[in-house]
Amino acid sequence: MSNNTLEHHSVILPPAMLGMLGGGQLGRFFVIAAQEMGYRVTVLDPDASSPAGKIADVHICAAFDDKDALATLAKSCQVISTEFENVPADSLSFLAETTSVRPGAQSVAIAQHRVSEKNFLKEAGLPVAPYAVIDAAADLPDDDSDIYPAILKVARFGYDGKGQARVKNQQEAQLAYAQFDHEECVLEKMLKLDYEVSVVLARDVHGNVATFPTAENSHLNGILDVSIVPARGSDAINHQAQKLAIMVAEKLDYTGVIGVEFFVCNGELLVNEMAPRPHNSGHYTIDACVTNQFEQQVRVMVGLPLGSSRQHSPAVMVNLLGDIWPTSSEQNLRAEPAWQYALNNPLLKMHLYGKREARPGRKMGHYTVINASRDEAIKQAMQVRAELNISN
Ligand code: ADP
Ligand code: MG
Repeated sequence: MSNNTLEHHSVILPPAMLGMLGGGQLGRFFVIAAQEMGYRVTVLDPDASSPAGKIADVHICAAFDDKDALATLAKSCQVISTEFENVPADSLSFLAETTSVRPGAQSVAIAQHRVSEKNFLKEAGLPVAPYAVIDAAADLPDDDSDIYPAILKVARFGYDGKGQARVKNQQEAQLAYAQFDHEECVLEKMLKLDYEVSVVLARDVHGNVATFPTAENSHLNGILDVSIVPARGSDAINHQAQKLAIMVAEKLDYTGVIGVEFFVCNGELLVNEMAPRPHNSGHYTIDACVTNQFEQQVRVMVGLPLGSSRQHSPAVMVNLLGDIWPTSSEQNLRAEPAWQYALNNPLLKMHLYGKREARPGRKMGHYTVINASRDEAIKQAMQVRAELNISN
């Protein structure tokens, strides 16, 4: 399933040019990691001021399906990766005709479509929440189905809780389905969650795997809010999540960094979804691990052995969404949150992505508090969170 052309090649060493499809914050951290190691990076993204494009060696400002731009990227880069799953899988296949692409188009295609994702997980024998595939209004189960209350999720292009509607019965499901323009959907049973965890791991071309510790995640309005690592749940759950995440990567024959999200429900793990790229819940690795998730992404791409993923300090990561930016009446003058308190903390690592426009729900940055004591890291991270007026 993976693109194996590179297996016969030698390791790609600095200062080779690496390619990245997508210029968001994940691409930006990738650029930073690659440049630190002496590589150069070309980013393809249609936004002239994308976070990664701004700091890349070369920014090709073009649409993700622009064949000429893709051909230029393929010609100038020795290996190419992607930073978000909604990049057209066709574009990855096109690039793979002439250059190496990691992860392969096929794994990305599975993960970017909720139906193929769910079906893959189920067929691989992984535990998932009860779901139904909705191709037409007639597929919506009637009221006596025990799938309700449920969440209707569009199959394609959903992220950060977008393209999702909570529905109590068939009628509400029909309304939501119409609102989604009868796009293919997955209807998923709404579960009472104990809590949520995720595992980020890297898998190289030889099948070696390095997992990062299990993260405990809480969400606000469907968007990741806080990650606590290591997770506070039982060792058994943390360990089982690692095992299941490795199973996902192996069944996909995955090459690259992948984030696997889980629900913990009645003490049991269910796989929620997977992201074929570094994951927001893995941002703590930048400040708390020997090798961060973006360096692992670089390492897999260039064929270097995986770095140690050992966590050296407990860590708590908090996302900074556009909601906390004050709205300023004066044009050209962007008011900023009051950063002082956060920046005064000697154990807090601030990461702002350089996005110009702060919109509600938009990921603008994050910070990570590290501390020898996990409880102390939680306390400090939450104090800063309250100070920044992040709502509960
Ligand atoms: P996204 O692609 O936007 O991350 P998810 O399917 O991961 O979409 O949903 C976002 C969040 O919504 C989850 O992390 C979880 O908090 C909540 N959620 C999603 N599906 C369910 C479900 N079936 N039961 C309970 N909560 C859910
Ligand atoms: Mg999710």
